[in-house]
Amino acid sequence: MTVAFLGTGIMGAPMAANLAKAGLDVRVWNRTREKAEPLAEVATVAGSAASAAEGADILVTMLADGSAVAETFEAASPASGTLWLQMSTVGLDWTDRLAEMAEKAGVVFVDAPVLGTRQPAEQAQLQVLASGPEEARPKATPVFDAVGVKTQWLGPAGQGSRLKLVMNAWVLALTNGTAESLGLARALDVDPALFLETIKGGGLDVGYAHVKGAAMLSGEYPAAFPAGLAAKDARLVVEAAADDVDVAGAKAVLAHLDAVVEAGHGDEDMAALYRAVVKDS
Ligand code: NAP
Repeated sequence: MTVAFLGTGIMGAPMAANLAKAGLDVRVWNRTREKAEPLAEVATVAGSAASAAEGADILVTMLADGSAVAETFEAASPASGTLWLQMSTVGLDWTDRLAEMAEKAGVVFVDAPVLGTRQPAEQAQLQVLASGPEEARPKATPVFDAVGVKTQWLGPAGQGSRLKLVMNAWVLALTNGTAESLGLARALDVDPALFLETIKGGGLDVGYAHVKGAAMLSGEYPAAFPAGLAAKDARLVVEAAADDVDVAGAKAVLAHLDAVVEAGHGDEDMAALYRAVVKDS
């Protein structure tokens, strides 16, 4: 089975490598070609999205946002009957628009965003939130199995993106809550490390607080999930909630993330929102 994999960034590169490791015939394309070159040993590096997609059975998109996915899908122009696994996080409106584009092109659309970050992507430990037509499952399964540890099939296309927003609201809250507790500790002359030590092993503990908290305490933010993309995700949560749910927390996280992006730190990890929470950090 030939897979055209479009987008070899932080997540896409290890996912494509894991597809090749699982024995699939992989062609990769990335807008900035240098980021795809390291995959040349295990995959064919294509010069354009169209040449990657030509004759491929499956198209995977793992790109920054909805407009990047739409532009790239147009450029790839996959043949009718191709299975499209759309794994980027694009929110609800874009998922609907992409599904329409797929329908017009005669392409089978599966909405399949993922949970997990750089390390789980490298270790093929992602969780796939899949939704789309039942008949797409057998063909999609080898791809999802190669990149992830668990796939949930959630119903018609769009349900995967819905659950992804729910999960992202949680991830954003955890990161922001960690930053605020660490910041408050500092302001109150409490050793911030005591916060992490005190939650450890109890009912309030969560692994994410230790990972993001360690970055905040060190002041080093190598990107596992870039702050710029986290801001995009916070905006998607706020938009999806509309007037039905008061997502004041997500709005606060969005304000922190927008501030760090504006200050030029959008390529750092989302943990860098600590910079906006603690004034002199
Ligand atoms: P990333 O490293 O910044 O990669 C973004 C990719 O999108 C790159 O390949 C980039 O190409 C491409 N791109 C951006 N704009 C484009 C355009 N207009 N046309 C064509 N390509 C374009 O980000 P990532 O972390 O891999 O994220 C990819 C997707 O996964 C996002 O939707 C993100 O929200 C989602 N996600 C990320 C994580 C995470 O923890 N990192 C977890 C779950 C889901 P260039 O290399 O040329 O810039």
